[in-house]
Amino acid sequence: MTARTPAKSGAKAPKPARTNVRAKGTAASAPGRRVLSLASEAAPLIKTGGLADVVGALPAALAAEGWDMRVMLPAYPGLRDRLTDARPVWTGVLYDLPATLWLGQVAGAGWWAYLLEAPHLYDRAGGPYGGPEGDHPDNPERFAALCQAAVAICGQGDAAGWRPDVLHAHDWQAALAPAYLRESGATTPSVLTIHNMAFQGYAPADRLPALGLPLARFTHDAYEYHGGFSALKAGLISCDRITTVSPRYALELMRAEFGMGLEGVIQARAGVLSGILNGIDQQVWNPETDPEVVPFHAGNLAGKAENRARLLAAFGLDPVAGALAVIVSRLTHQKGIDLIAEGIAPLLDGGGALAVLGSGDPWLEGAMAGLAARYPGRVGLRLGYDEALSHRMYAGADAVLVPSRFEPCGLTQLYGLRYGALPVVAATGGLWDTVVDPTPALADQATGVMMMPTDALALRQALRRLVDLHADRDRFHRMQQNAMRADFGWSASARAYAALYRGLAG
Ligand code: ADP
Repeated sequence: MTARTPAKSGAKAPKPARTNVRAKGTAASAPGRRVLSLASEAAPLIKTGGLADVVGALPAALAAEGWDMRVMLPAYPGLRDRLTDARPVWTGVLYDLPATLWLGQVAGAGWWAYLLEAPHLYDRAGGPYGGPEGDHPDNPERFAALCQAAVAICGQGDAAGWRPDVLHAHDWQAALAPAYLRESGATTPSVLTIHNMAFQGYAPADRLPALGLPLARFTHDAYEYHGGFSALKAGLISCDRITTVSPRYALELMRAEFGMGLEGVIQARAGVLSGILNGIDQQVWNPETDPEVVPFHAGNLAGKAENRARLLAAFGLDPVAGALAVIVSRLTHQKGIDLIAEGIAPLLDGGGALAVLGSGDPWLEGAMAGLAARYPGRVGLRLGYDEALSHRMYAGADAVLVPSRFEPCGLTQLYGLRYGALPVVAATGGLWDTVVDPTPALADQATGVMMMPTDALALRQALRRLVDLHADRDRFHRMQQNAMRADFGWSASARAYAALYRGLAG
């Protein structure tokens, strides 16, 4: 998940980033195959949603393809301590105050991270984007600074001489980097990946000088966007390649209902657009070795039954014989959470139960709490974020519900598949690309249930089908085996990214 930037003015104009750490010789990693991945979050260092999973998984996946990928992030509080042998490799001035880039290996993950230490921008309580009061008003500058540091490394390399051959920017927080590269005439090619078009990094027009972009380019065909400025648009018009996180979402983004105002830009750049499906880390998400769960695999689901019983108990649910469904999600309109209360009846009437883990919009948290109060023993709720519990939920569930209005890729359905929890999904984006509905032609390969359109009636119909499938034990078991044997690891996607980088780096 990423955050929408609120509109506020009054930031000071940045001085250009400058360096006073000299490069000391050339680094040993493969020249011609270096990628700098730029993002606002990466697991396991900092995570609010799927973006972090993807950014954190890519370095190992790309290493298998012979690419040396490093990740640059803001040094949020406490992050630097999680690097092994962190050392400064660049210093500069960003928004009037000193900033230092630290390089080190992420403990427990192994990939190399650059953390941009700039206490005036990142040393704040709360999450990466804001605190209890909402998003930080200077988010445009906070992430513009990150982009300026990345561009400095693209230009001159770090103190050890590591300089990327390709810049890979993720979402609006990193999208200014391709624009800065283009404005400065730099030659480093760039890829911009859209993980979610809903978050566009909007700022009012008077912020343009503070973001270091020329006023002369504040025109409709350049940086102007609905009378203001969008970091995402700036990146989309400046980068060399655009990717989205599923092929279906790439097509959807050309339509107004999904393009969210930027469909014209996407259409104009269709020639450089492609969809590359996200993978999952199959080491971390492995029901045979996951330390959180009783082990099981496609050939023997006995352990899954034990996980199911534990999950029911953990949520205070009755020992139901029907389908046990879970939701692990941000509780937002995008995720279709408002449809649950209206659409859940067939699951409960069919002898099933629902366990929900999530947090988000207060009114949806309230709606879920109301549902749990209405159906004690049948609907359980945990408000908050709990990674370990999420593993136990996928492991214990018969089904995972993902009725999203749009879903760029979606990871929860992939974790569901891996743990034999059949996804019940809306027919959109990556959900469409990854779940096989048991239509007669595909009955043998089916892995889940699809609903269309995304409304309460379609959800009710989909849940009725789930209940029927669950009652047919052999058929349900075959679908679980199909699901668990499907390969959504990173290999194919990493090959696609590697091919993209190769084409750019020459
Ligand atoms: P998005 O990035 O739009 O939120 P994704 O499906 O791409 O949605 O990724 C969501 C990720 O966050 C998954 O790894 C999911 O398991 C995790 N997640 C979401 N909410 C919670 C929660 N409350 N507790 C633990 N993990 C969660």
